[in-house]
Amino acid sequence: MSASVTAVPSGTVGFSDEQLAELGMSFRGPIYAPGDPGYDECRSVENLAIDRHPGLIIRCSGEADVIDGVALARDHGLLLAVRGGGHHVAGHGTVDGGLVLDMRDMNGVWVDPVNKTVRVQGGATWGQVDREAQVFGLAVPGGVVSTTGVGGLTLGGGIGWLHRKWGLSCDNLISAQVVLATGELVNANADEHPDLFWAIRGGGGNFGVVVDFTFHAREVGPEVALAAVFHEASAGAELMPLWRDLALRAGDDVTTRALYWSMPPAPDLPPPVQGKDVFIVAAMYAGDKQDGQGIIDEFRSLGDPLFDMSEHVPSYRAFQAGFDPLVTNLYSYWKSTYLDELTDDAIAFIHERAMSRPDPSVLIHVPIMGGATAAVPADATAFGDRSAPFMLSFDGGTYDREKYDKVRRWVRESIDAAGRIEGAGGAYLNFSGDEPGEERVIRQQFGANLERLKAVKTQYDPGNLFRINNNITPN
Ligand SMILES: Cc1cc2nc3c(=O)[nH]c(=O)nc-3n(C[C@H](O)[C@H](O)[C@H](O)COP(=O)(O)OP(=O)(O)OC[C@H]3O[C@@H](n4cnc5c(N)ncnc54)[C@H](O)[C@@H]3O)c2cc1C
Repeated sequence: MSASVTAVPSGTVGFSDEQLAELGMSFRGPIYAPGDPGYDECRSVENLAIDRHPGLIIRCSGEADVIDGVALARDHGLLLAVRGGGHHVAGHGTVDGGLVLDMRDMNGVWVDPVNKTVRVQGGATWGQVDREAQVFGLAVPGGVVSTTGVGGLTLGGGIGWLHRKWGLSCDNLISAQVVLATGELVNANADEHPDLFWAIRGGGGNFGVVVDFTFHAREVGPEVALAAVFHEASAGAELMPLWRDLALRAGDDVTTRALYWSMPPAPDLPPPVQGKDVFIVAAMYAGDKQDGQGIIDEFRSLGDPLFDMSEHVPSYRAFQAGFDPLVTNLYSYWKSTYLDELTDDAIAFIHERAMSRPDPSVLIHVPIMGGATAAVPADATAFGDRSAPFMLSFDGGTYDREKYDKVRRWVRESIDAAGRIEGAGGAYLNFSGDEPGEERVIRQQFGANLERLKAVKTQYDPGNLFRINNNITPN
């Protein structure tokens, strides 16, 4: 890399045309500077409320580009963002004025069906993993939509349809290849760099760029027993206690969530739910379909639904991608907390918030936790306390830029009020919109793990090069 490339003092990129041409020659992946064709498309991230203008974007095509990109940022004092799937609601995959290492072209997936492992490059999405793994009847525990990045979701934890059976995404990680701030490429696993391996399982992108993940793959599908049942939102007050009781006795093979939402008036949706405010009961059995159908049918038989979509979803892959079109192109702001107990009072509070949602695209999401997730001790990975049986997340979204501030305010009010529920605490940092005071939330979530995280950060990134994330500052 040319030593003549300079940066302006603020940490933003200030390259001349000649310098950019030189960079364009040395990287294998394309680079984009402001004004270049494709720059605007490339700089966008999932959350439309995030409108940042990086000084330079490098679409990394391999490890060499990542190593040189890290060196470029480090040696020239540039703010550095690493973009995986670009889904973090706070826009951690991009940065104003700085350098973005865009990983999305590094999306290779290799399945080893004999040893039941999957190797995934650092910029792949869960849909790409599912495509390759499901051919062999395998799945890596990921999220509940197909477009999220494996990178950010895994490094921050990862909940989906399999976490009660198989734990968080990060619990299924066997090994990772990481480009450190020094530019060195290291393996992190139980035997090599074990502290780093501990830290990247929940500690986010604080420690380096993961170019390659190797996961355990689990036998799932292609067909699965699942529930996707739509009720009138007003029925939620009565149904949620029944759902809670069933969720708690359904066993660890079942992961389930209750949601309040509004379906768009889209003609391709079943007529009974078009344009309706709904309470959704969703569940999946993580094993043989025949074995799971009985318990899943209990979720389907709660109440008197508007529409039961369950039989219309033919496979695990279809379930994973089913909500994709409904959760994109939104101006978003999310906040979450954990609940030690989903009491009747908590349910009454959630229902009251659901009835006051400021936009149809605002989602209230209550997933069950526990199971294999809670079986991992809090200090075994960086993730932190896993004891809460439920999460409560306010996923504020709107298609209307003008309504974004109102949605954001409502989410803030809701999370503040939720904080007064007895037994509420912590936050899932993968669901965390940016705000001043985030450090307090980070401290609360990592708890006793924070000191060890800071020590690992100090060892691997003492200059805090990787700081566009839920940042753990070095000592
Ligand atoms: C529509 C939607 C659905 C979601 N569903 C779920 C869900 O079901 N379950 C769940 O747990 N979460 C879910 N999330 C939250 C998701 O986990 C976070 O948004 C996560 O950060 C996404 O990762 P990403 O790579 O797409 O994001 P990015 O914004 O690209 O990255 C997020 C953070 O991770 C870092 N990062 C990403 N890749 C790498 C890498 N290879 N090496 C080092 N650092 C990296 C980035 O630097 C950044 O700090 C959802 C989010 C959205 C918007």
